[in-house]
Amino acid sequence: MNDTYDVAVIGGGPAGATAAHDLAKHGLSTLLLDKAGRIKPCGGAIPPRLLRQFDIPDHLVVNRVNGAKIVSPKAKNVRMNINTGGFVGMVDRDVFDEHLRVRAADAGADRRIGTFDRIDRDSAAVPTVHYTTRDGDAAQVRARHVIGADGALSAVGRENIGDHAPFVFAYHEVIRAPAGPAYDGATCDVYYDGRLSPDFYAWVFPHGDTVSVGTGSAQKGFSLKRSVGTLRDIAGLAHTETIRREGAPLPLYPLKRWDNGRDVVLAGDAAGCVAPASGEGIYYAMLGGRLAADAAAEALRTGDARALGQARRRFMKTHGSVFWILGFMQNYWYKSDWRRERFVAICQDADVQDLTWDAYMNKELVVAKPMAHARIFFKNMAYLTGLAAA
Ligand SMILES: Cc1cc2nc3c(=O)[nH]c(=O)nc-3n(C[C@H](O)[C@H](O)[C@H](O)COP(=O)(O)OP(=O)(O)OC[C@H]3O[C@@H](n4cnc5c(N)ncnc54)[C@H](O)[C@@H]3O)c2cc1C
Repeated sequence: MNDTYDVAVIGGGPAGATAAHDLAKHGLSTLLLDKAGRIKPCGGAIPPRLLRQFDIPDHLVVNRVNGAKIVSPKAKNVRMNINTGGFVGMVDRDVFDEHLRVRAADAGADRRIGTFDRIDRDSAAVPTVHYTTRDGDAAQVRARHVIGADGALSAVGRENIGDHAPFVFAYHEVIRAPAGPAYDGATCDVYYDGRLSPDFYAWVFPHGDTVSVGTGSAQKGFSLKRSVGTLRDIAGLAHTETIRREGAPLPLYPLKRWDNGRDVVLAGDAAGCVAPASGEGIYYAMLGGRLAADAAAEALRTGDARALGQARRRFMKTHGSVFWILGFMQNYWYKSDWRRERFVAICQDADVQDLTWDAYMNKELVVAKPMAHARIFFKNMAYLTGLAAA
């Protein structure tokens, strides 16, 4: 036994690296334990709010996209421009995540490479965290609290919360961006089409020199690889060089409990925090990491483990209703090509576009525009009841 930490953070993705950074800044002794060695499969799209809130330097953003092209099953294209000077930022996860981990270490966190195995609560007051080093050796530290930020299949969550968020599987291919005028790389292209995903959407996200082409689905037996092949054909990207093929689970709903009421709290994908309908998880992981760090710091300060519960409460208070609305949207609009066609038609509406971008970029429900909300409600009803044609 070498060390005793205030908090051991398991997982060095956006959630864990943010938590470790914040804890070290609070002056708490912090371990950041990460498996390392694998680039997280991810479209890498992030909102400007993330850059502001988490102080991300500009050079990590490899592309700023000022609009989206939404494509329906009948190949109807709707262009959604961001008219407010905002953008969707693109980050490459190998560089982005490593930046966050280095920042955590610079703030004072101890960084170790290893795979979490289990927590032992023997007679000692402080639990023991067991892990396996990169060389395959068994190792251990003591930690008063543990933050489980070890992704969608969280071993910390399985062992200590006993729950597991349901997930879709997402897969993408990172390809070389084609040269020449046929490809402009200026929009995020989003395809709502049952051939490409029976229950989610498919995407083409431009990252400057590379492009992420991907899709997701919870349906067993649906071939994500074949779907991405079809999408590459449709988008004219079939013959560009493929750099990586990779996939990962994407959790669907926030877990009902993120903490064990004692010494463990989850964050990010481990807590199930990916927005339904959009699959956006990076911002919510970083926020979850921050809230988990605050909660652990408060539990340590007061000696009251009930403080760990504040991470989920604070998250759901701010974002619970948005997650609910997005869940409803996914369950309704992504169910058939008939509905997808209508959904894309709704996206032509200027109010829908403005509110969508506002909500995405700033991560707040826009309450300042009550008339726009009312108009969207009535237009939605018209499309749902068939009074408006797609
Ligand atoms: C194909 C795909 C495309 C996506 N596109 C987007 C997108 O465009 N925009 C967006 O916002 N979100 C996107 N997401 C979601 C986003 O990637 C995740 O929500 C986000 O990475 C969650 O961050 P996290 O830190 O919680 O988990 P992760 O990023 O998964 O990090 C978990 C970390 O824990 C480590 N770990 C795991 N197990 C252990 C263990 N036992 N011991 C030690 N370490 C361990 C892993 O090595 C990893 O570093 C996408 C996801 C997928 C799969």
